Amino acid sequence: MTDVPGASQSTSGTLYVVATPIGNLDDMSARALKVLGDVALIAAEDTRHSIRLLQHFGINTPLAACHEHNERDEGSRFLTRLLAGDNVALISDAGTPLISDPGYHLVRQARAAGIAVVPVPGACALIAALSAAGLPSDRFIFEGFLPAKAVGRRARLSQVKEEPRTLIFYEAPHRILECLQDMEEVFGGERPALLARELTKTFETLKGLPLAELRAFVEADSNQQRGECVVLVAGYSAPEDEQAVNSEAMRILDLLLAEMPLKRAAALAAEITGVRKNLLYQVALEKQKAH
Ligand code: SAM
Repeated sequence: MTDVPGASQSTSGTLYVVATPIGNLDDMSARALKVLGDVALIAAEDTRHSIRLLQHFGINTPLAACHEHNERDEGSRFLTRLLAGDNVALISDAGTPLISDPGYHLVRQARAAGIAVVPVPGACALIAALSAAGLPSDRFIFEGFLPAKAVGRRARLSQVKEEPRTLIFYEAPHRILECLQDMEEVFGGERPALLARELTKTFETLKGLPLAELRAFVEADSNQQRGECVVLVAGYSAPEDEQAVNSEAMRILDLLLAEMPLKRAAALAAEITGVRKNLLYQVALEKQKAH
């Protein structure tokens, strides 16, 4: 068994989940270098890619492939090594393994086998983007990659249209424009958003604009349609009128809207709740437009 700080006390080895840089090699942590140098084996998403990274840091630890196509089957190979007492590190091509990257099955299998799994944190594109976006960061949701085809993409966007938390997406450069077009259509052009491109690299760009302007900015400059990108969109906030109507009034209005025409529903809801009829009528109209 190799001597790595924080390693499991049992006879089994430890599986280290090690983050690597997302562009700038200076983001490699001292702890990541130590762990990668000390373990018996590194499970890598793409060994040809990772060998260059390891060579850069003078690390000669043996590598074995652990990618989405072999992860379930080959996992047992890594488990055998771990159970025999070897420490193993898991890395992906860039950033944090398992975050839109392979590793989930191996980590799950290792934990199920009682093997200690230790994270070695570092770069992660979504967190880097969020940390500099100036959008609410106390609550957020990560949606990963959207479906590649427009129908699926719009359906997924519609599901999160009224999500109040900040939304974070990964997107491929050749789809960024269509993606922003769909976001503009589904969320509305006024919704604040930010495109974080080529983070930590030479052409790093963080552009925060309402969706319609962000789409126009990317459309007008083909350079913005290159490189790696993260899209952040502000969460939904209800129009002021809607906020003024309390949740009980909304519940009654919703029930009545399901049973009768809009004008009648607004009038009846006003009588029951005491909220102004015109306000309820406006809210009901907005709801109808949104659906
Ligand atoms: N595991 C990685 C992480 O921790 O962020 C993500 C891997 S995923 C296969 C690759 C996607 O992450 C890219 O398509 C892009 O959306 C985002 N990404 C990775 N590096 C980036 C960077 N330097 N700048 C912006 N986005 C990046």
